[in-house]
Amino acid sequence: MSKTILELQGLEMAFGQLSVLRGVDLKVEEGESIAIIGPSGSGKSTLLRCLNRLETPTGGNVLFEGNRIDARTDINQLRTRMGMVFQQFNLFPHMTALANVMEAPVHVRGIKRDQAEAEARRLLEKVGMLEKANSFPRQLSGGQKQRVAIARCLAMQPRLLLLDEITSALDPELVGEVLDVVRDLARQGMTMLLVTHEMRFAREFADRVVFMDGGVVVEVGPPEEVFTRPKSERLRKFLTAVL
Ligand code: ADP
Ligand code: MG
Repeated sequence: MSKTILELQGLEMAFGQLSVLRGVDLKVEEGESIAIIGPSGSGKSTLLRCLNRLETPTGGNVLFEGNRIDARTDINQLRTRMGMVFQQFNLFPHMTALANVMEAPVHVRGIKRDQAEAEARRLLEKVGMLEKANSFPRQLSGGQKQRVAIARCLAMQPRLLLLDEITSALDPELVGEVLDVVRDLARQGMTMLLVTHEMRFAREFADRVVFMDGGVVVEVGPPEEVFTRPKSERLRKFLTAVL
């Protein structure tokens, strides 16, 4: 029996006159890996940002772990349960990889330093970065920084990961090492919403693919269906342009 971890009901977001999300409905089951694809400007980043309240939606509902997110929700608590990794790595530049990963567990979760360090080392090992534990961000490649950023996010023990084009700023030869980490997390049962331009990866990794255009979900289904039997003209056009 699968369990719904996240449900969007008619989610809307407008910036002034500009309506960016126009009623997004989506249910995410625990353990699911979902790839979100769609043209630039279709609202993919805004969607993720509305989920962890970097933006406040102008309409609709978000239910996370059975609770409606609203003005009374503790945002910091929400963000520990729903981790987000961005295109730009956002590591603390003056801290080592290890210190970056330890920071939130010590200062937000209130965990003792030696326990946090042991946990951080385990996470760095998981993303293949234990050898660089004492390196500073400037001493790391883009792919390495992004793997540390993922470890830092995991250190909060999130129930859901939001990944927004995490390989888009990387040199092509570094994309694979980051996607390998994402693939491992998916296999281990992490629930993920991944916005990506990597169509091959989306197809191979995702349980379901969501195609967004113009602020709505146009199609959603298993990768085989979405990539080989698009129902809408919009998706057909998009796939022709990107594949
Ligand atoms: P995507 O991630 O699919 O490329 P975005 O969610 O970033 O799309 O953007 C969708 C639309 O919302 C774009 O037209 C963008 O210019 C607009 N937009 C995003 N954030 C803001 C903002 N803070 N203020 C005004 N417009 C925004
Ligand atoms: Mg975006």
